[in-house]
Amino acid sequence: MLTASIDLDAPGKHHGFLGLIHSDHRHAHSVIPIPVSVVNGGDGPTVLITAGVHGDEYAGIAAVRQLIAELDPEAVTGRVILLPQLNYPACLENTRVSPLDGENLNRVFPGAANGSPTGQIAHYLEETLLPQVDFAVDLHSGGTTARYVPSGFLYRRDGDLMDAKLAAARAFGLATTLVVDAPISAGSLLGACDRTGVPAIAAEISGGATLEREPIAAGRAGLYRLLVHWGVLETAPDDVPAGVETSYVRLAFGPDRAVVAPVSGLVVPQQSIGDAVRAGEVAARLYPMEDQGAPPLTLHFPQDGVVTSMIARADVRRGDFVYLTGVPIDL
Ligand SMILES: [Zn+2]
Repeated sequence: MLTASIDLDAPGKHHGFLGLIHSDHRHAHSVIPIPVSVVNGGDGPTVLITAGVHGDEYAGIAAVRQLIAELDPEAVTGRVILLPQLNYPACLENTRVSPLDGENLNRVFPGAANGSPTGQIAHYLEETLLPQVDFAVDLHSGGTTARYVPSGFLYRRDGDLMDAKLAAARAFGLATTLVVDAPISAGSLLGACDRTGVPAIAAEISGGATLEREPIAAGRAGLYRLLVHWGVLETAPDDVPAGVETSYVRLAFGPDRAVVAPVSGLVVPQQSIGDAVRAGEVAARLYPMEDQGAPPLTLHFPQDGVVTSMIARADVRRGDFVYLTGVPIDL
């Protein structure tokens, strides 16, 4: 059971935390403070902005931190609730999943009030926050092991929310929007938004557990364009460019769309994210780890497509994804 240290309905800008009570070897009885800020300008829509669902995805965290610093409640119509490091225990350890329970926050929704620490975070969002929310956006950034083409991300599902999601993806304004057939993961935050009737998109901006200026700027600009689109801000700051027209790429995670390492070794990618590739085209060379006399293996793409993400590390284990590809679609 999480408790907010600040009144999320109070006017103005406030910073506090969601207190997660936890007891383990390190914490006999501690409150783990999940950062939350609210910028409340009075009547209007409520927007939820999250990052750090995975603790090693920094560009989204930095973009939300910048927005927290910049947003002026006098300019806000409605309310913006910002959670820059939603899986705070994972953020503290620079890990994708929580060090407290080994769980992936984007797989455990709806969680439980008295469940695992990660499940309690999910439960608070789904049961307490999302019912108050009109629109949501969740920033991801690839993580330690992956880099993505900078992109919006949405679940395709028939129904009323789809038009609003597509409009949000266009407003977010990155050149690519990744589309996943729902329900690929009912345990994700986007799955929770679908269940609670909240139009929501996510984003994948870069990756590799780095902080670079361009992805942060792209995330910040997309957030401002969304706040204008959703009627929370009248205008974006002067340094926020107009968005570009987005193209939709259907992403699937099956083996037919992935290049998988057949043995453990050192991988040398031969293509870049965003490249259009053909079936049979060379994807990577792989030096087997256990045989220094062996020539590198050549890995190939299984199908035509667009490279949507690639590994962000040099060493791979047998079974690791080296590339994921998607297929352009019209929506
Ligand atoms: Zn992520």
